[in-house]
Amino acid sequence: RRRNPGEAEFHQAAAEVLDSLAPALDRHPEYAGSGILERLCEPERQLIFRVPWVDDQGAVRVNRGFRVEFNSALGPYKGGLRFHPSVDLGIVKFLGFEQIFKNALTGMAIGGGKGGADFDPKGRSDGEVMRFCQSFMTELYRHLGEHTDVPAGDIGVGAREIGYLFGQYKRITNRYESGVLTGKPVGWGGSHVRTEATGYGAVFFAEEMLATRGTGFDGRRVVVSGSGNVAVYAAEKAQALGGRVIACSDSSGYLVDEDGLDLDLLKDVKEVRRARLSAYAEAKPAARFSARGTVYDVPCDIALPCATQNELGRDDAVALVKHGVVAVAEGANMPCTPEAVKVFREAGVLFGPGKAANAGGVATSGLEMQQNAARDSWSFETAETRLAAVMRDVHRQCRETAEAYGGDAEDYVTGANVAGFLRVARAMADQGVI
Ligand code: NDP
Repeated sequence: RRRNPGEAEFHQAAAEVLDSLAPALDRHPEYAGSGILERLCEPERQLIFRVPWVDDQGAVRVNRGFRVEFNSALGPYKGGLRFHPSVDLGIVKFLGFEQIFKNALTGMAIGGGKGGADFDPKGRSDGEVMRFCQSFMTELYRHLGEHTDVPAGDIGVGAREIGYLFGQYKRITNRYESGVLTGKPVGWGGSHVRTEATGYGAVFFAEEMLATRGTGFDGRRVVVSGSGNVAVYAAEKAQALGGRVIACSDSSGYLVDEDGLDLDLLKDVKEVRRARLSAYAEAKPAARFSARGTVYDVPCDIALPCATQNELGRDDAVALVKHGVVAVAEGANMPCTPEAVKVFREAGVLFGPGKAANAGGVATSGLEMQQNAARDSWSFETAETRLAAVMRDVHRQCRETAEAYGGDAEDYVTGANVAGFLRVARAMADQGVI
């Protein structure tokens, strides 16, 4: 903490992983004494830079950009960019740290990194977003490359932003390097299913957890938090599997639609009009929007937190357990506080941590890189089949590792942390002290 003051989220993420590694270090003492833990917690490179741009009124604005290249033992740094006013070094480091283990769990050759800026795209015109992205890339481009560092989207960064970032990279470098960014639109180098991948993947993971208890989504009440990229496609897949998704949220409040969410309407409100969630209730009076309370007050069988870190605390977990929740799968990164996770585990709720449950996004980014390298483009069905296979494998690894290193196959937190750690630690040991 003295070394990294003010980085609360990074401390939280690091403690969560380190606390679960004791059984792995007992079995592999070679990883305990060779500086691997110290090196894992220290990013290989951290970049902080000025992002100046001009708004529509002609005023100069200055934001702060970040890229933390955390660990390249398994491959080029890989991880998204987040544009949100809350972004600071501690947030980017927590996300980059999580990414190392998540990427290892996918079995692919990708290292861990993350970046972003404290820029708020909300309420900004397309022109302003474009100028911001161009300025951001004018600094970042020198650190990127398909064999070096490959960013993708995250909160506030979708296909529009990836397009502007890619355009500026191409312009500066004079290289059409498709594999330098993932999350591109399908028409020019993007992969089918990348938009849907994180949400779909979280539902596939939850489906696998539920199957171990002989049940599934069919007929279940499902609540998702957020209404962005991850939330919308988690809701879509949960519905396709027979679940009734009755609530979602954004930072202004939450929405309940007991008929089951109308996803066409939700996509129109959030993706096309970029409006607040209350616009859904204005268009469909049978739905209820509330600016007070939380989406976790809505009774459900399955909860999919898909908004942001630390959004689901102890009281929310207690309310969910009281209402009989069976499974919680994190579509977002670290949405549940450690206290909430404890409540779920003690109540016997199936709990899928983000670094396993939301690995479908980066896995499909890995598939996008494969297609770019081969100058190929797969069908939607092929990409979705590959995604489903990765999620089944991540789930299997978590259970098998949890059983082998703790005895409890349902301890997905230990399973994910230990399985990810072992793969990275092995590679770091092989590559020497660097
Ligand atoms: P988006 O920007 O598309 O959506 C984020 C959603 O969360 C919005 O509805 C936003 O509401 C809501 N939200 C943000 N902050 C809060 C808050 N404090 N309280 C309530 N709601 C909030 O981002 P994504 O869907 O891409 O990302 C969501 C989460 O998933 C993040 O944790 C991200 O790191 C993680 N993730 C994303 C991946 C991806 O492929 N996109 C991959 C793996 C993980 P509002 O619009 O009002 O701000």
